[in-house]
Amino acid sequence: MKTVVVVDLDSTLFDTSPRHHLVPTENRHANESWHPYSQAHVDDVLIEGMATLVRLLQDQVRIYVLSGRMDIAYDTTRQQLTEHGIFADRLRLRADNELGSVAEWKIGVLREWMAEDDTKIALMLDDFPDLCAQVTAELGIPTVTPMLPVHYNTTMPGL
Ligand SMILES: [Mg+2]
Repeated sequence: MKTVVVVDLDSTLFDTSPRHHLVPTENRHANESWHPYSQAHVDDVLIEGMATLVRLLQDQVRIYVLSGRMDIAYDTTRQQLTEHGIFADRLRLRADNELGSVAEWKIGVLREWMAEDDTKIALMLDDFPDLCAQVTAELGIPTVTPMLPVHYNTTMPGL
């Protein structure tokens, strides 16, 4: 039995705040509009705690990276992960022709993986709480959502 942990990248393993200014304001539903934002991932800052967790897990289980980052950034993403000592057994990014919400797309990919023989997805790490709730409710996969300092300060001001 292949035990798998699914890991998101943006705002889960990497702090994307250096490129937030590149989030498209027009044609947001066209995947190509997200190319500049995706390609700027090379400026992201590693979230060391999450990276340490994944490095510990990868010795025990298979790591499948599932990210809405666009496929145009595939090679640089592979390189980025390797540089940080993270060795994903699979890296699945979003192709230009894969439309719809990121949540719908991720759930579709998870269903494909779950249908493979001998595969058990034991856990998913992802920063998007609505997606995590849906993944647990629909697919029975437990999830962990990192609460990063940048989010914590935003959602709980004054602490
Ligand atoms: Mg994310």
